Amino acid sequence: MERKKNFFAGPSVMPVEVLEQIRDQMVDFNGQGLSMVEASHRGGLFEEMYDECLDLFKELLHIPDDYDIYFLGGGATLQFTMIPTNFLRPNTVADYIKSGTWANKAGEDAEKLGKVNYYYDGTDNKFSSLPDASKVKPSANSSYLYLCSNETIGGIEWQDFPDTGDVPLIGDMSSDILSRPVPVEKFSMIYGGVQKNLGPAGATFIIMKKSLLEKQNPNLTAYMDYKRHSKDKGLYNTPPVFSIWGVKLMLEWIKRNGGAEGMQKRAVEKSSIIYDTIDGSSFFRSPVDPKFRSKMNIVFRLPNEDLEKQFVSEATKNGMLGLKGHRSVGGLRASVYNALPKEDVVALAQFMKDFERKNG
Ligand SMILES: *Cc1c(COP(=O)(O)O)cnc(C)c1O
Repeated sequence: MERKKNFFAGPSVMPVEVLEQIRDQMVDFNGQGLSMVEASHRGGLFEEMYDECLDLFKELLHIPDDYDIYFLGGGATLQFTMIPTNFLRPNTVADYIKSGTWANKAGEDAEKLGKVNYYYDGTDNKFSSLPDASKVKPSANSSYLYLCSNETIGGIEWQDFPDTGDVPLIGDMSSDILSRPVPVEKFSMIYGGVQKNLGPAGATFIIMKKSLLEKQNPNLTAYMDYKRHSKDKGLYNTPPVFSIWGVKLMLEWIKRNGGAEGMQKRAVEKSSIIYDTIDGSSFFRSPVDPKFRSKMNIVFRLPNEDLEKQFVSEATKNGMLGLKGHRSVGGLRASVYNALPKEDVVALAQFMKDFERKNG
């Protein structure tokens, strides 16, 4: 089978060896006579795998002991509601960094539940840049400061993170989790959907400092209550079993390939190949501030939209999928997540050069 070169933004590419592991174990997990997706989530088979998965996550991201780690359903999007429901207290504000589609959606949901202060608003620069992390200071009466570490659609990524002192820092890391080491101790909460860098869609990872729970609003319904999930390790209700199993296999793959540090090396190497191609040409153009270029989602433009359409169509014929920019912003985007092989990036760079030669 000839595999496509998969630049989709999410769900996205997984390593062939992980897909093969899933295939090989789908019907009979480790000779147990049943599949992981048929086993009770209150039983040995699942729970053993789940505990290993959580331990691996902790190890690979160097998560300190005073943090809970678990998975929920509902996607990253459910967290846009759960975070303010739990932590935006009456008579306070929540600071949001309005950096692009994903942070903005989170901010809009928070506005329905309490008072939001936009510490930074990227509207004027069309969300092509970010604030200087060392200058970010939360409001005096802030319940938390919220940011999105990598704007998947806009293609910008925080390179450092602010120190917010006593004000909890909360980060959506859906699209760059485990693509680099992260100073977890700066954050009170890190979360994200797994379907970009960590496995099949379904699960949302939650990494939360236990002390954040002391700042919760009272009277929450069961599923909305992080304390409930902390007690039950995310197993209050049926977890997305298949997705979590896929994450476990992805984490093992990340470990075999050098962990967060190894993924960072790969990300730097792969993204440079495309950015160098863009910078070395007067045909392709990057619309984002070079200081904050994402190493996961590389957005770029051509001189006009017809050429962009032609680019996507010819790339597709050449087995390269997912290069169309998000429908809300247009242009082109190559997502180069952890699992994407370097050869595929090299092939894309070559295709870009050939396309420029023919059309530039
Ligand atoms: C994809 C994405 C989301 C939305 O994730 P869902 O799991 O579809 O809810 C949120 N934030 C970021 C940064 C994303 O990339």
